Amino acid sequence: MHKNLLKLLFPPLCFGCNELLLNNEKIICTSCVHDLPLTHHHLLDTNDTKKKFYGIVDLEFAFSMLYFHKEGIVQKLIHQLKYKGKQEIGSYLAIIYALSLKGLKEKYNIDEIIPVPLHPKRLKERSYNQVDTFCLTLSRELSIPYNKTLLIKNEYSKTQTKKNKAERQVLNNSLFDIKDYSSAEGKHFLLIDDVITTGATIESCAKTLLKIPNAKVSVITIAYTQS
Ligand SMILES: [Zn+2]
Repeated sequence: MHKNLLKLLFPPLCFGCNELLLNNEKIICTSCVHDLPLTHHHLLDTNDTKKKFYGIVDLEFAFSMLYFHKEGIVQKLIHQLKYKGKQEIGSYLAIIYALSLKGLKEKYNIDEIIPVPLHPKRLKERSYNQVDTFCLTLSRELSIPYNKTLLIKNEYSKTQTKKNKAERQVLNNSLFDIKDYSSAEGKHFLLIDDVITTGATIESCAKTLLKIPNAKVSVITIAYTQS
């Protein structure tokens, strides 16, 4: 069907407030863009995301882009991104975030962006990793290579949301592995995930990456939520 006709029949709505989007608006309306709960972590010496890892794993930096509130706009965006196939939301958020992160690669000498991986079986069920478009776009905007094959997930586990907190806490290093150590030595990896809650998954991934000789790890998540 012709694109304009399709637009006439199914006008695009804001993922935040469900209002009709204007012609120059994409994904979310101007009003919702202004209401995005940005954390500004990248401007702070320390922040809530970094604090989750104090004494647990040594990270160069850790930022989250947005605060996640129940029933809030970020929850809606993440839900559409993660479960409804709206991968364009990841690209959209990364374009906004990249404006704040200009020069990040040079400042911290970052070598590669690494997504928190899904198990191949889960990847098949969902058909995409929800952080993929966010990673790809950040990679392009910040000129940091994207490596989605280095860190792999080993065993199949239940959906995170179905687990209770205690179960999530026991996630351990063995869930993840390094596919190939040979070209990874001495690199600074920027690990990326969608939402940070307890930090257990990121901890596990970071510890796995830090098994690589002389590696450094930093973390960016799309959203931060209090655990
Ligand atoms: Zn809106």
